[in-house]
Amino acid sequence: MRIGIDLGGTKIEGLALSDDGRELARRRVATPRGEYDATVDAVVSIVAALESEVGGRGTVGVGMPGAISPASGVVKNANSTWLIGRPFAEDLGAALGRPVRLANDANCFALSEAIDGAGAGAEVVFGVILGTGTGGGVVVRRHVLTGPNAVAGEWGHNALPWPEPGEWPGPPCYCGRTGCVETFLSGRGLARDHREATGDPLTGPEIVQRAERGDAACHATMRRYEARLARALASVINVIDPDVIVLGGGLSQVARLYEAVPQLWGGFVFSDVVATRIVPPRFGDSSGVRGAAWLWEPTDPWLGRPDGV
Ligand SMILES: [Zn+2]
Repeated sequence: MRIGIDLGGTKIEGLALSDDGRELARRRVATPRGEYDATVDAVVSIVAALESEVGGRGTVGVGMPGAISPASGVVKNANSTWLIGRPFAEDLGAALGRPVRLANDANCFALSEAIDGAGAGAEVVFGVILGTGTGGGVVVRRHVLTGPNAVAGEWGHNALPWPEPGEWPGPPCYCGRTGCVETFLSGRGLARDHREATGDPLTGPEIVQRAERGDAACHATMRRYEARLARALASVINVIDPDVIVLGGGLSQVARLYEAVPQLWGGFVFSDVVATRIVPPRFGDSSGVRGAAWLWEPTDPWLGRPDGV
């Protein structure tokens, strides 16, 4: 049995998967916001409840916003700020009596879709979150590519490539730079772009809906969004050449992206043909918790494994 935990800012979800990927049990509790020890305890309780329901002991993988610093082993870049600077994997592993693997939620999304989701069977999958932020994860032959800086796949804080007039230097980003991909392609980036172009303070979903109904200004905003997404993904294709790009997050539900973007990226990919597929997710919101479970393979020698993460 493999247990996946999706540690979010408002809820903690747990899932037990059989070794062949069937869902055995699920649990969900509210996240003890701001309380480190209570967060560790909540995960321990979910694991205990899942194991008691299914019967048996499982591997534990945890997906969360943020990453583990390779240098220090502590959590960094987390929006669950009470975890920042804490050795969460180590503390949780000690409380559970087994090693725990921790990964960024975008990496878990990419892994879930690569193993048995929309990217199943592909050698290289780039999973992209288009939502509050623009995270990303790379999976190569069913394994998450992490990298020595734990930032593999984090395309969202690269600069928007091939900028057009008005796109450079671009909006300020919380990371301290300007013109990051995220400032254009997150839900908020979409809304900001529309507001700057029209003065109309619509939300991202409103812009999408109105564009569907034929609103010319909203359609124009979506065309700008599609062109930017095409350029940003083309720059990723030029580096890792994924077989499949799976979109996740709220904007992955926008059907027109899957038609428009492949028509636009050919001008930027360094190849005469672009065979890369761009597809919607299979598991949607469940991908985080599924991917966390898949952080361990059935063949992993996990009992007594000293390194844990
Ligand atoms: Zn940034």
